[in-house]
Amino acid sequence: MRHQLFIDGRFVDAESGETLPTLNPHDNTPIVDVAMAGKADVDKAVQAAQRALPAWSAMAAMDRGRILLRLADLIESHAEELARLESLDTGHPIRDSRGLDVPRTAVNFRYFGGMADKLQGDQIPVEAGFLNYTLREPIGVVGQVVPWNFPLMFTSWKLGPALAAGNCVVLKPAEITPLTSLRIAELLSEAGLPDGVVNVLPGLGGVAGQYIAEHPAIGKIAFTGSTATGQRIVQASAGNLKKVQLELGGKGANIVFGDANLDAAVNGAAWAIFHNQGQACIAGSRLVLHESIADEFLARFVTLARSVRLGNPLDENTEMGPLTSAQHRDRVLSYVDVALAQGGEILAGGKAPGGALSQGCYVEPTVVRVKSWRDRVAQEEVFGPFVTVITFKTDEEALQIANGTEYGLGAGLWTGSLQRAHKFAREIKSGMVWINSYKRVNPASPFGGVGKSGYGREMGFEAMREYTQVKSVWVNVDAVVPPHFKR
Ligand code: NAD
Repeated sequence: MRHQLFIDGRFVDAESGETLPTLNPHDNTPIVDVAMAGKADVDKAVQAAQRALPAWSAMAAMDRGRILLRLADLIESHAEELARLESLDTGHPIRDSRGLDVPRTAVNFRYFGGMADKLQGDQIPVEAGFLNYTLREPIGVVGQVVPWNFPLMFTSWKLGPALAAGNCVVLKPAEITPLTSLRIAELLSEAGLPDGVVNVLPGLGGVAGQYIAEHPAIGKIAFTGSTATGQRIVQASAGNLKKVQLELGGKGANIVFGDANLDAAVNGAAWAIFHNQGQACIAGSRLVLHESIADEFLARFVTLARSVRLGNPLDENTEMGPLTSAQHRDRVLSYVDVALAQGGEILAGGKAPGGALSQGCYVEPTVVRVKSWRDRVAQEEVFGPFVTVITFKTDEEALQIANGTEYGLGAGLWTGSLQRAHKFAREIKSGMVWINSYKRVNPASPFGGVGKSGYGREMGFEAMREYTQVKSVWVNVDAVVPPHFKR
């Protein structure tokens, strides 16, 4: 298990010698002490990245892509090891780590491996006598700060486009889940990545993360995490006017209309909120139900929520594991009191399970009927297996509720009406809309938000744009002499 900083192609201790334990959220026992990067380590990593940049950015794009394709193969051949490591460190049920996190990570790297040599500039028709074209150039050294909810997958979302476009990277995983990104760094070396191109620095957000955001030699920072931290990053980045890409929180509305297929909607709504213990920025954390189907929907949904199998993430039967830290479990549970104080009604869950699971960071699947869509639990990101329920009468009301938060990341609609589906898709203020499904992601499809959910897009060709800057080149093909100052 790798537990040191990865700088310039080698695993090394932090300059300070300090470490931080990473815990197993199933029972809060320590897994391993991990080196904790400070400012001196960030400086070392940035210098290594700067040294690696000229050769890496000048390498044929197809050769850069080939390294990412080899990495994707290596991830597949180490799939079981990576899945177990992710489950151990984060609490993801092993069935999800095996079935989603690891395969999606491989697919993301493969997609961007294939994308490396598809990044083209344009030839732009300008005035006669001139050729104008654009070059898409890498930004240089980029900083990436990854959260703890999907550490392995988000490492691939961030590294894939950055590397394909020819940048060098200083990446900080979250302090509580550093293990799989360190292993990815090692596999990248095995795939042939030159030393210094990727540096992985576990460490505290307020220290190493903050310094990456401030660093004058880093040209861009990409961040996934809370809106409050995103705002701090924007401020810290101002010193050298870094390019900033933010993928922040969400409060996804999942609207079920009277004409929906209820079997699909109930199942899809459970997936939307309970997958990954609800620790997903795109979680469908607000159920918005038409009054005509609300009772039947809720009867089925609550029964399903109560039947979700909580347990040790390494147990193949487990459907929901622990939250990723005790601190986060306490934060999620604190929202039960917030809901009750505003007249909310707990329809399922609302507590930590007892018995053997009480040592871990578990929270029961929780369903809360709220009095108003303006209540705190229907506005703030809880980021756990905690869904609010509200009913509506008219489409106008549903739209008002859906758009009634500061966030705008993902939203779902369940309806049999084509016209209504497209109308809502157009009117909802969010970066992604799922119709008769929820939480679909694919490396080819842009991912990101509006409002306090951030800006910039991951995935797809949009991500390649985010990791490049455009240079416009003018060529005076016909030797045109400018008319001004002609003598
Ligand atoms: P956070 O935003 O503080 O942490 C996410 C990452 O940011 C971690 O790697 C952390 O080390 C780093 N970080 C923290 N402070 C930083 C700083 N000043 N500069 C640079 N990097 C910094 O989130 P949290 O405190 O762990 O969780 C709080 C809430 O954030 C959650 O309850 C949830 O609502 C939200 N969250 C959202 C996502 C998402 O996928 N959008 C992920 C994690 C957390």
